[in-house]
Amino acid sequence: MKNSHDVVVYICGLIAVIGIISASYLYLEGEDKDVKIENLLQERNTLLQKNNQKDADLIIASTTIAELQVDLEKIKDDLDDLADNYRNEKNRNEDFESQIRNLSGTLDDLDKLAKIDKELLAKYSKVYFLNENYVPKKLKQIDDKYILEGKKDQYFNAEAIDHLEDMLKASSKDDLDLKIVSAYRSFDEQVDLKGQFTQVYGTGANAFSADQGYSEHQLGTTLDLTTPGVGGAYTSFAETKEYQWLLDNAYKYGFILSYPKDNGFYVYEPWHWRFVGVELARHLNRSDETFYTMDQREINEYLIKLFD
Ligand SMILES: [Zn+2]
Repeated sequence: MKNSHDVVVYICGLIAVIGIISASYLYLEGEDKDVKIENLLQERNTLLQKNNQKDADLIIASTTIAELQVDLEKIKDDLDDLADNYRNEKNRNEDFESQIRNLSGTLDDLDKLAKIDKELLAKYSKVYFLNENYVPKKLKQIDDKYILEGKKDQYFNAEAIDHLEDMLKASSKDDLDLKIVSAYRSFDEQVDLKGQFTQVYGTGANAFSADQGYSEHQLGTTLDLTTPGVGGAYTSFAETKEYQWLLDNAYKYGFILSYPKDNGFYVYEPWHWRFVGVELARHLNRSDETFYTMDQREINEYLIKLFD
């Protein structure tokens, strides 16, 4: 029986040992889990803290952004204001500049007008006539090739002579032969001429030779034209193609017929052409008016463009 008792004791001991080991194991295992949970909780808290910090940072950042946006709006407004001011200033300057330009334009016009001889667009009659002492500002000799053979040198207003030569060039391009009989005539020459006409034609000379001083020839902007077939400047010039060409084209060069047919002021002078500037000549060509039926004040408005 001794042996079986030993066996029981042994088994019991074994069971006890196993029990102790198991209990220890279970105890240790439980403790380990608690530590893990503790760690996890700590980790969670750390994360929550970090999260809170991030939220706080985010709020600060959002506030900063909002503030920056307000600042930006302000800067934009300021820039807009500046741009407005700049534009206003620029407009003011431009207004000022254009005022100056207009003013200097007016001054230029006045200066230009002051230099233009007002007699050049004056109407002459027995009541209003050119002073016997009047002498044109500047005359220039007309090229010989335009002067009727046998006639002496002729002179024309220096500022209008290019218009005259352009007209004569254009007419010769159209196979016409316009020639100048007489252009500028001084008061004394006019007196002499009147004397010659009076000797030849008697008192009838008044009909086609203006009384001395009335003569537009004294201006230096008037000429008598003819063509070699006709000879002198006489009414038969009116039947030539040269005369018809002048009626159709002379205005383009600033020339008009001073005394057209049936003008009611003076005898018809188809040979007698006066330079009045392109603007006025064009106006007369378009209208029913003639130079001598126009109002002098209306004519004077064309003075400034006389040599344009
Ligand atoms: Zn004449």
